[in-house]
Amino acid sequence: MKTLVVASGKGGTGKTTLAAAFAHFAALEHHVVVADCDVEAANLPIALGAREVVCHAFGGGSEAVIDTATCTACGACASICRFAAIGPVLNGDDVMYRVDPWACEGCGACTLVCPAGAVQMQPKQAGEACTGITDVGPIVFGNLRPGEDLSGKLVTEVRERAGHLADTGDDVVLIIDGPPGIGCPVIAAIANTDHLIAVTEPTASGEHDLDRLVRLARKLDVSVSAVLNKADLSASGAERIRAYCAGADVVLIGEIPFDPALAALLGGMAEGSGIPAAGEGEGPGLIAVRAVWERLRAIIAS
Ligand code: SF4
Ligand code: SF4
Repeated sequence: MKTLVVASGKGGTGKTTLAAAFAHFAALEHHVVVADCDVEAANLPIALGAREVVCHAFGGGSEAVIDTATCTACGACASICRFAAIGPVLNGDDVMYRVDPWACEGCGACTLVCPAGAVQMQPKQAGEACTGITDVGPIVFGNLRPGEDLSGKLVTEVRERAGHLADTGDDVVLIIDGPPGIGCPVIAAIANTDHLIAVTEPTASGEHDLDRLVRLARKLDVSVSAVLNKADLSASGAERIRAYCAGADVVLIGEIPFDPALAALLGGMAEGSGIPAAGEGEGPGLIAVRAVWERLRAIIAS
């Protein structure tokens, strides 16, 4: 099995479009499993037209819940809570105590001080981990609930499920669409992969983000190459990225021009049209993506 991860220092660089295209190319000659580790905005299932999706709850610790029938409104729980997650509310003329689930950190201190035994800890759902089918192979992805901060753990869950599906033989390519940035979720997505494709843009911030991603990959001992997307939007910016790659000893495996037809291609792939054969009315974007894939084929074969 070979594992490729497509990532970028920020969102909007086109990494999901490229991950979807690579999955289609890979499926022409390998068994493919895809994983979308961008659990706060999973777009790869849309790009690949995922169907027969089954989701399971992803646990996120626990939260306090007050049984209002048992509560005597003494206020001891509110006094002990360091996160100000419990407060009084009026219910007609009566005072009741309620837990704010967004503020509760699940420490359980309130359960220890309640004289009435009215506070219970209950499992909290932080999101869901989902599996589905696409035209290129099975897909695993996650959906983190807004406000939850367990994205790294959910990415690990997605990785484990995808790894299990891919662990069926040698001729399997696992393609991961990574989350943006360089934080904990990105580390979880990149660690123990065979190769990182860092997607960047011809801007100063693109160079900065690329550098952070390259440093991270090297710390994790993962080989890395770069793809310059929308390369023709800034000649000076593109030159800047080329100079960075040369100086940092990063192989620039392709430059893709801005091509609106690539977005249309993504829509077609989502509807099941697959990827066009070479020479079939390709725009400059797809020609460049195909050339990048040829470089990746060599990495897979190595
Ligand atoms: S579990 Fe901890 S954080 Fe949550 S309400 Fe109770 S004391 Fe506050
Ligand atoms: S400590 Fe128990 S009885 Fe007192 S307000 Fe809190 S939940 Fe109600």
